[in-house]
Amino acid sequence: MHELDTEYYEIEPSASTRELLAVAKLYAREVAESYGLSVDVSALEWEVSKRAKRRAGAVRHRNGEPETVLLTWEQFQRQGWRATAETVRHELIHVHLLNEADDPSHGERFRSLAEDLQTTVHCERFAEPNWWVVCAECGGKLARYRRSKLVMEPSSYRCGGCGGALFVEENVG
Ligand SMILES: [Zn+2]
Ligand SMILES: [Zn+2]
Repeated sequence: MHELDTEYYEIEPSASTRELLAVAKLYAREVAESYGLSVDVSALEWEVSKRAKRRAGAVRHRNGEPETVLLTWEQFQRQGWRATAETVRHELIHVHLLNEADDPSHGERFRSLAEDLQTTVHCERFAEPNWWVVCAECGGKLARYRRSKLVMEPSSYRCGGCGGALFVEENVG
């Protein structure tokens, strides 16, 4: 295992989104190699979001397959390369755990890898859920990533907040 050199990839916030993506992908390859992660960098789509404000990054996935790594332009502009690099490491752990364990969570496995890779455990909200379970009374929403019993039979459950009836919305797009 060779030492990961994040500074080597340093790029100034005056760079373009294309330059940032190019560097992020090179860096991601080195991260995956250094830590033995199941990540095929070129098989993933990479995007920089200029709209995202609160989320540092995300992995979009479909049926448990990671598809797109999203980075946030705002974070790079405000906090620079080191912060974006930390986000890249965070998102790569998600890709790895989706590939290896069908696990999109920030659970035990995630925490242990986050420590190794020196990155944060929490992201604002991970990826786009496949379903929203919505309360008809209070409008409360739960993000759901898997076809669980709650998703299949929402009428068997009640809202944890107000006891109202639940229904499911598929999250397309
Ligand atoms: Zn996350
Ligand atoms: Zn409710």
